[in-house]
Amino acid sequence: MFEKILIANRGEIALRVQRACREMGIKTVVVHSEADREAKYVKLADESVCIGPASSAQSYLNVPAIISAAEVTDAQAIHPGYGFLSENADFAERVETSGFVFIGPRAETIRLMGDKVSAKDAMKAAGVPCVPGSDGALPEDPQEILSIARKVGYPVIIKAAGGGGGRGMRVVHTEAALLNAVATTSQEAGTFFGNSAVYMEKFLENPRHVEIQILADQHRNAVYLGERDCSMQRRHQKVIEEAPAPHIPPRLIARIGERCAEACRKIGYRGAGTFEFLYENGEFYFIEMNTRVQVEHPVTEMITGIDIVQEQIRIAAGEKLRFRQRDIEFRGHAIECRINAEDPFTFVPSPGMIEFYHPPGGPGIRVDSHIYQGYRVPSHYDSMVAKVIAYGDTRDQAIRRMRIALSEMSIQGIKTNIALHQELMFDARFNEGGTAIHYLEQKLAQKDEVKR
Ligand code: ADP
Repeated sequence: MFEKILIANRGEIALRVQRACREMGIKTVVVHSEADREAKYVKLADESVCIGPASSAQSYLNVPAIISAAEVTDAQAIHPGYGFLSENADFAERVETSGFVFIGPRAETIRLMGDKVSAKDAMKAAGVPCVPGSDGALPEDPQEILSIARKVGYPVIIKAAGGGGGRGMRVVHTEAALLNAVATTSQEAGTFFGNSAVYMEKFLENPRHVEIQILADQHRNAVYLGERDCSMQRRHQKVIEEAPAPHIPPRLIARIGERCAEACRKIGYRGAGTFEFLYENGEFYFIEMNTRVQVEHPVTEMITGIDIVQEQIRIAAGEKLRFRQRDIEFRGHAIECRINAEDPFTFVPSPGMIEFYHPPGGPGIRVDSHIYQGYRVPSHYDSMVAKVIAYGDTRDQAIRRMRIALSEMSIQGIKTNIALHQELMFDARFNEGGTAIHYLEQKLAQKDEVKR
C-alpha cells in the first residue's frame, strides 16, 4: 500500500479523499491555490504545497507544478478527484512517466472514453446498448448525412466527438435544418475542443438519466455497484441524485450492470468508473463514460456499504477486488442534495464569507463538506459547498430525513440553494419518483410564468 498520496483537487472532494487516506493510514499532501490557502482541510493534511494563484489554469490545472509538488514531498500516487485534471489523459500519462501512480484508469483508457465516438464504438463492441445513430463520425458528403438522419428518424441530436460539460450539442427537428446544424456544430467543436468530428444520435424526447457505478481491478475483475438516478438537472448540471433509481425493476439493472462489468473486463478498465445512460420506455441507451469518481458517489456508498474512494486507492496499488458480484448487497435508499453557493431561484453565484454555519445530523444523515463558520467561499471555482446525503430503509424514509436535515441546516452570509431543495423534497412528482431530465427546468419555467 502507498505511504503517501498527493491530492490534486480542492474543496469537499479533497477532504473526502483525505479522510479515506487517513482511515487507511496513508499520509496526505494537499496542493492548493493561493485562494484556498486558509482552508481547514489544507491545514488538516500532513503536508500542503501552494501550486499557484487563484486561477485554476495556473494552479489546479498546472501540471508541472503538481508533478513537482509530488516530487518534493515524496508522494507515491496522485488522486485527481473529479473535474480539473481527472479526465485528462495527458496528465495521467505525465504522472506515470514521472514515476508516480495515477489513481484512475490508464491514460489510453481515458483517451478512448474521452472521445465520444471511440467510446461508443468500444461500448457497442462490448455489447452495451447505445442510442441509435450514425456509425461513428459523420461523413463529409451532405447526401450521406441526410440519408443517415432519415434512417435514424427525427428529431436527431448532433454531438461533438470531443464535447463535454453539456457543450457541443444541437437538436435538429427537420431535414431543412440538418446540414446547417452539422456545419455549425462541427465548426464550434473545432474551436472549443480542437476536434471538429461530430456524430448523430436519435434525440430522446423525455428520458431519465440513470448511471451504473463500476469498480474494476488490474486483474480483469469487475463488479457493478448498482445504479443512480440523476435526472433532477438544470442546464445539464445534476442537482439531486439517488440510489436506487425509482421504479426500475432490479432484473433490468442487473442485466445492464453485467454488461458494464463485462465491458470493463474487455477493455481492461482499472479503477472506479460510471457508465451514463439515458433511460426511456424500459430501455437503456449509453451516452458516455466518466473515468473518475463522481460527485454523487456517496449515495452508492450508503446503499452498498462500500467506500468507493478507498477501493480506488486499493485498485491503484494493484490489489485484487475484495468482493465478487454476489457479495454485493443493496440495502435501503439514499438521496443526495448538492448545496451550492447561489441564489436558490435566479441561480446567480453567491461567494463570500460564511458568517454562521450549522450542519444537520441525526440518523441516516451524512454531510460531505469542507466549509465552516468563518470560511470564505472563493469566487474562482465551482459553487458547490456541501453535499447532504440522507439514507433510509425506504425512499420515503430517506425523503423524510432529508426534509428534516434541510430544515436544520443553516448557512448564513452567503445565499444557498437550500430553499430549492426544500421545495423539491415536498414536490408531488419528485415524491412519486421517476421524473425525467427536463422536469426541473419545466417546473422552474412554470414558476417564472406564475410570477409574471
Ligand atoms: P456531456 O459530456 O457534455 O455531459 P452527454 O453525452 O453526457 O454530454 O450529454 C449531456 C446531456 O445531453 C444528457 O444528460 C442529456 O440531457 C442530453 N442528451 C445527450 N444525448 C442525448 C440524446 N441522444 N437524446 C436526448 N438527450 C440527449
